[in-house]
Amino acid sequence: MHNVIIIGSGPAGYTAALYAARANLEPLLFEGEFSPDILPGGQLMTTTDVENFPGYPEGVNGPEMMDQFKKQAVRFGTTILSKTVTEVDLSETPLKVVSGAETWEAKAVIIATGATAKYLGLESEARFMNHGVSACATCDGALPRFRNQPVVVVGGGDSAMEEALFLAKFASRVHVVHRRDQLRASKIMGDRVLAHDKIVVEWNSVVDEVLGTDSDGVTGVRLKDVKSGETREVACTGYFSAIGHKPNTDLFKGVLDMDDTGYLVTRPGSSYTNVDGVFAAGDVQDSVYRQAITAAGSGCMAAIDCVRWLEAQEA
Ligand code: NAP
Repeated sequence: MHNVIIIGSGPAGYTAALYAARANLEPLLFEGEFSPDILPGGQLMTTTDVENFPGYPEGVNGPEMMDQFKKQAVRFGTTILSKTVTEVDLSETPLKVVSGAETWEAKAVIIATGATAKYLGLESEARFMNHGVSACATCDGALPRFRNQPVVVVGGGDSAMEEALFLAKFASRVHVVHRRDQLRASKIMGDRVLAHDKIVVEWNSVVDEVLGTDSDGVTGVRLKDVKSGETREVACTGYFSAIGHKPNTDLFKGVLDMDDTGYLVTRPGSSYTNVDGVFAAGDVQDSVYRQAITAAGSGCMAAIDCVRWLEAQEA
């Protein structure tokens, strides 16, 4: 039986592993197996320059940083399995973690499965993924295909505003497509977008189809006016989805407490979930900050909570 199993390999998972390993818990970490739905290393694997993680004054490449996180966790005795957890049984001790036909048992589990950017779900989005379709302007916005070209951002929240303002540094024009006549974003972000001479908001509009060709990738979008039903085309080389994130909590439905949007609920000021011995860290339980540094911080909290909880069981 393992002392602790950590599920997830982003900043939260690896920081939890580092702290648990240094407390001699010999953690087992499931990093996930690469697939369309699983990205070992988490969201930073799709990022180029990370400029806001303290300690890197010149910035750091996202995948490189995650490689360093991993090496540091391994150095102190973390065992990493490149497997995807397919099932958990947290109803009794030992807690059980399943991947395919194999089962592992542990006294404690730290969940750090993160969140995934949402897309509208159009077939044409999937068709042009990485050929003009992205959910991360900060990762991809500076690519040559978007420079001095019109691009589209979908969404009316702070993420969409942030993406639009970032893209406006490179693109010739940014069309923000929002389904209502009022932004959801904070006033300060919204005002900056509305005042920007390169950004135009396409109000009351939804993307009906992403247009393009196999050779050129995205060439435009077809928009539909939600009030009149009329459609119109907007030429663009980029389509950025910024309609929020989905926490990766399907495994824990009906077992762990979640909020209305599926984020795990932790006891305030801690990483404790509603199940004894199960802790949560990072974006899977944070819909507000969602930063690498806050994820890492909460991974540290989860490991410390876990160490103390295990000690209390043995006392
Ligand atoms: P969000 O606040 O949930 O906004 C999502 C936006 O996408 C909304 O405008 C929503 O429209 C739209 N949307 C959702 N589903 C859609 C669909 N199927 N079709 C068309 N539009 C759709 O998500 P977020 O912008 O990612 O922000 C999440 C949290 O992080 C917020 O608390 C935000 O303040 C925070 N955040 C802060 C910053 C910052 O301060 N720098 C940056 C990013 C995020 P409706 O408005 O009609 O619902």
